[in-house]
Amino acid sequence: MSHGYKPELSEGAIKCPIFQTSTFVFKSAEEGKAFFELAYGLREKDQDEELGLIYSRINNPDLEILENRLCLWDEADDCAVFESGMAAISTAMLSFLDPGDLILFSNPVYGGTDHFIRHVLPRFCVDVLAFNPTDSKEEIIRMVEASGKADKLKMMYLETPANPNNQLTDIGMCREIADHFSTEEKRVILACDNTYMGPVWQHPIKHGADLVLYSATKYIGGHSDLIAGACLGSANYMAKVKEYRTFLGNMAAPHTGWLLMRSLETLKVRMDEQARNAFHVAAFLKDHPMVEKIYFLGYPENDRQKAIVEKQCLSYGAMISFDIKGGEKEAFRFLNGLRLIKLAVSLGSTESLAEHPATMTHIGVDPEDKKRFNISDKLVRLSIGVENYEDLIADISQALDKV
Ligand SMILES: *Cc1c(COP(=O)(O)O)cnc(C)c1O
Repeated sequence: MSHGYKPELSEGAIKCPIFQTSTFVFKSAEEGKAFFELAYGLREKDQDEELGLIYSRINNPDLEILENRLCLWDEADDCAVFESGMAAISTAMLSFLDPGDLILFSNPVYGGTDHFIRHVLPRFCVDVLAFNPTDSKEEIIRMVEASGKADKLKMMYLETPANPNNQLTDIGMCREIADHFSTEEKRVILACDNTYMGPVWQHPIKHGADLVLYSATKYIGGHSDLIAGACLGSANYMAKVKEYRTFLGNMAAPHTGWLLMRSLETLKVRMDEQARNAFHVAAFLKDHPMVEKIYFLGYPENDRQKAIVEKQCLSYGAMISFDIKGGEKEAFRFLNGLRLIKLAVSLGSTESLAEHPATMTHIGVDPEDKKRFNISDKLVRLSIGVENYEDLIADISQALDKV
């Protein structure tokens, strides 16, 4: 909670103040020159030298201290905080992908990420290829080879568990695939969107990922009152990501950094409680006569999914999707009947939320893919919060009765 903050630099304030400033005063012209030389990578850092404060697009104490704290959860060298999850994801991709390169990504991914990969990257002559996480390592390697672009594979991007069906991808298997296509000159970068597991329940770097990405809007922020993102990884990769952040200018603002630091203090207690609540809610839904099928990490669909949960997840999480008996009419009746749980998109917050993926978050997904990933009219997605779980169950129960 106090990591990286020195009260003596801020009038003894116990909490890090909001450094609501655009620029920082240099002690001398020589100091300004020395800071800029480091910021532009024109010379190596001297021993114990740190980059001084220059200008809030480049660095600001609220972001730097927050970034140091986020590094602890994932045991990463460095972190960059962004003004949104999409800013973190798009900047990480633009930092490493050149025209002619190939990106291989797990399907499905978050709608915004899907759009950026399929519709924006091709404008920069980046080739894109989706893989099915349920395929074997050999099948995925064969598919990449069949594309004729295997030597151009630069980044493998995955999201696990996937939204909204809780489909799991084996991070370790993806590392092996990335290594298979890496050469002495070119390491295939493995990037993992870890939003669904927050920084508490899954640590992709431990399983071989090079970059970890977050929508900090979700569990990290956790109060539905801000939009932010983060990217973490080793020092050399993060230097590149921070360079791109500086020139795209999409860093988070000081006030957002300050809110996120406050959120981090309760991150673990919030997430623990959310997972506990979700476990009870899932158990209730599983046996309810109006529920046809449930998608929850605690009830894996097959042995392979079960093995992945045990290998890489430290919790079943707090996201539950389920098929209601019927179709859109029944799903809508349920959603409209909720009284405590709010009807809204987003996830990971203190309050429980419910939504209808097929007509809301995933309305843009290709109809074939919708069918393949069970994003049907009867699918409802829940994000479980920190309320009393008996209240949540009572609310769900009365809404199901109305159906
Ligand atoms: C919300 C979300 C994003 C996008 O984050 P924003 O903060 O909304 O830009 C990316 N990935 C996943 C898995 C998300 O849930």
